[in-house]
Amino acid sequence: MAQETRTAIVTGSARGIGAAVAKRLASDGYKVAVLDLDEAACADTVEAIKAAGGEALAVGANVADEDSVAAAVERIAAELGAPTVLVNNAGIIRDNMLFKMSVDDWDSVMAVHLRGAFLMSRACQKHMVDAKFGRIVNLSSTSALGNRGQANYSAAKAGMQGFTKTLAIELGKFGVTANAIAPGFIETDMTAGTAARVGVPYEDFKKAAASQIPVNRIGQPEDIAHTASFFASEGAGFVSGQVVYVAGGPKD
Ligand code: NAP
Repeated sequence: MAQETRTAIVTGSARGIGAAVAKRLASDGYKVAVLDLDEAACADTVEAIKAAGGEALAVGANVADEDSVAAAVERIAAELGAPTVLVNNAGIIRDNMLFKMSVDDWDSVMAVHLRGAFLMSRACQKHMVDAKFGRIVNLSSTSALGNRGQANYSAAKAGMQGFTKTLAIELGKFGVTANAIAPGFIETDMTAGTAARVGVPYEDFKKAAASQIPVNRIGQPEDIAHTASFFASEGAGFVSGQVVYVAGGPKD
C-alpha cells in the first residue's frame, strides 16, 4: 500500500538553515509547514517549494509562546495533516561576554531554543504517538562544547542534546525517534550578523573560518538539510538519541 504523504514542520524556516531543510523535506515528498515568527516572511520558502511541485503552508508563530504553538500545530494538523516530522530549528543569538550578558540576553535565548523545542515537541508528540511514527530533529551547535561570548547559546545548545536524548528514551516505543544535528560554521544571516558585530567583513570572516575546518570550506544550509533528511527518513528508525556534528571535521 502506498505510504500516505507525511506532514513535516520546520521552525524558523523563512530563511537560512530552516529554509533549506524545508525545501529538502518537500523534495523528499513531505508536505511542509514553513513556520516562522512572521507569516509573510515564509512566502519565499513556500513559493520555492510550490514551484518545485511540492506542497507547503506558511505559518506565523512564536515557538516560545505556548498559545501560539498550540494554535499553529492545530492549524497545521487541520490544513496539511497530522505533523509526524518536526525539525526544531528556530534560533537566535544574543552574544556577550558573561560580565556584559543581560538577563534578557540569557532568557530570550533559552526561550527560543529550549522552551521553543519543548513546546513544539510536546504539541506534536500526540500526533506522532497516534500515528505510531515520528521523527524529531533538533538543532544543536558545536557551541554546545563551549564558545567564548556564548554562555547563553552554548548552554541552550548543550540543553538541546539532553532534551533530544530524553525524547528518544521516552518516545521510542511509539515509533518516534529524536536526534540532534550540531552544525559548525554555516553560511547564513546568523553568521553574517556575527561578522558584522565583531567588525570583520563577512568574506574575510568566512575565509578565516574555512581555514580552521578540515574539509577546507564553510558549511552551507544544504549540508544540514541533507542530514535532517536522513534523520527524517523511514529507514532511520533505529537511529535515535544521537548527536551528529556536521562541521567539516571531528568535534568532541
Ligand atoms: P537564521 O538565518 O538567523 O534563521 C533563524 C530563523 O528562526 C529566522 O527566520 C528567525 O525569524 C526564526 N526565529 C527566531 N525566533 C523565532 C521564534 N521565537 N519563533 C519562530 N521562529 C523564530 O539562523 P540559521 O543560521 O539558519 O540557524 C538555524 C538554526 O541552526 C538555529 O537554531 C541556530 O542556532 C542553529 N545553528 C546555526 C549555525 C550557523 O552557523 N548558522 C551553527 C550552528 C547552529 P526572524 O527572522 O523573524 O528573527
